[in-house]
Amino acid sequence: MKILVGDALHEAGIELLRKVADVEVAAGLNEKQLIEKIRSADALLVRSKTKVTKNVIQAAKNLKVIGRAGVGVDNIDLEAATKRGIVVVNAPEASSITVAEHTIGLMLAMARKIPFADASLKSGKWEKKKFVGIELRGKVLGVIGLGRIGTQVVAKAKAFGMQILVYDPYISEKLAMDLGVKISDLDEVIKNSDFITLHVPLTEQTKRMIGKKEIEKMKKGAFIINCARGGTVDEKALYEGLKSGKIAGAALDVFEKEPPLESPLLKLENIVVTPHLGASTEEAQRYASVIACEEVIRTLKNEAPRNVVNMPVFSQEVLEKLRGYLPLAESLGKFSIQLLKGRISDVSITYCGRLLEVEELKVLTNAALRGLLSPILSESVNLLNAPIVAKNRGVRVTEGRREESEKFSSLIILKVKADGEETEVRGTLLGEEAKIVGIDGYSLDLAPRGEILLVKHEDRPGTIGKVATSLGKRKINIATMQVGRKEAGGTQLMVLTVDQQISKEVLRTVSKIKGVRRAMAVEL
Ligand code: NAD
Repeated sequence: MKILVGDALHEAGIELLRKVADVEVAAGLNEKQLIEKIRSADALLVRSKTKVTKNVIQAAKNLKVIGRAGVGVDNIDLEAATKRGIVVVNAPEASSITVAEHTIGLMLAMARKIPFADASLKSGKWEKKKFVGIELRGKVLGVIGLGRIGTQVVAKAKAFGMQILVYDPYISEKLAMDLGVKISDLDEVIKNSDFITLHVPLTEQTKRMIGKKEIEKMKKGAFIINCARGGTVDEKALYEGLKSGKIAGAALDVFEKEPPLESPLLKLENIVVTPHLGASTEEAQRYASVIACEEVIRTLKNEAPRNVVNMPVFSQEVLEKLRGYLPLAESLGKFSIQLLKGRISDVSITYCGRLLEVEELKVLTNAALRGLLSPILSESVNLLNAPIVAKNRGVRVTEGRREESEKFSSLIILKVKADGEETEVRGTLLGEEAKIVGIDGYSLDLAPRGEILLVKHEDRPGTIGKVATSLGKRKINIATMQVGRKEAGGTQLMVLTVDQQISKEVLRTVSKIKGVRRAMAVEL
């Protein structure tokens, strides 16, 4: 067996590979050279430098697995690998401790003014009074995002005697309880924290989640740390906050634009910056190499790998039979998470009608879970790892089958419970076209794509008109409109597809219209 290592990987992983195969380390190959070498390889290991293109994958005769020693897989043509049945594995957890330690390091650097004192002494001054710091003990740390890194930060901050407040709307109460932390809402975290640290992915919801308004609400003299992603903190608002003294200090490892050489933030005195070093330790590189190599070995031995990025494990036959249903199931998940915005505790998915002719429907459940979880996680959730990711987050998943499918030939019913609230979305295929045919007991006929506004409102004259006028005033064009009700005088559901993105501002305005009980925006 032959394993090709295409990038400079930490030796610890390569040693593991040598125990099971002939290993060729050939870093810095161009596409042509890689094509030559890959022909006879059973496995390929890379970091981010080597580009594993379609041409490379097609040239491989024996390739079974590609290992990425790290998280991102932008350098690997996943589609080409999946089509050839080549498993792609990675090492998403490798740098969590390293990033958490960097976060704590930055927090201490600010609390004790270490970089400023260091620069002062090196410039020949002895300014003991100027650099009086504060202790971390007893201070409130607000952690935004309790995933792999956030969890590690909490554990370490506890050892300093800090009080922890957490905001993560998607984590289960149980998981938080196991960690001994209290989940709060964002406002509570912002208003009460002495230090705020972000550990969220960059999504529509997290983009500039710490902006002018949030900074205004913070305690005077609070500190902000961002080791997550540039863009989660509004840099302009942060600059103003630091300049005015409202924010005592900030520590940034990530920036909206990297490198941020033109940023006015770099000119401020109360900021500590590092050049995206969060994951840069000897150990993280070692773990990444060891984890990726272990995953490759597991795959070569036909054992189930834990960090699969693609999905060639489901048979091509099953995938072919379920072709149209896979994106449908994923849309149902993506739709539901946007209706709920809470901590998912239970997911139940029921398959009805002709779908039962396909024996293996697990891949559809996984697609629905991917739709539910991908929008809120930084790791890649795929058709294979989705159930594991759900389990790790304390989500109970049940699958059911039912002969009867109402007026449709097949039907998928997805019920999701989050924070005690429940939503039910039903979908089917009409010919080749995916349709959402029910939301919370209201019947409709909706193509799951684009910008969708859902308004639950009292069934009384005038409300629909007011909603439409309010959208018109904000130059939002309505493409389609459906209104349904269960009984006269009760609650109606209005579903609008629109041509423009629905901002939080628009949603707030619609929610305030008399008779409107709830307005929700969904983007598919
Ligand atoms: P993760 O996927 O394990 O955790 C992300 C957490 O954020 C999840 O628990 C999720 O529920 C939560 N979340 C999602 N949307 C949210 C929202 N709107 N409000 C509050 N919480 C929300 O990710 P991770 O591995 O812990 O990584 C966290 C961040 O750190 C990512 O942005 C990642 O890219 C970044 N990162 C940075 C470096 C670096 O070098 N500085 C290295 C690795 C990772």
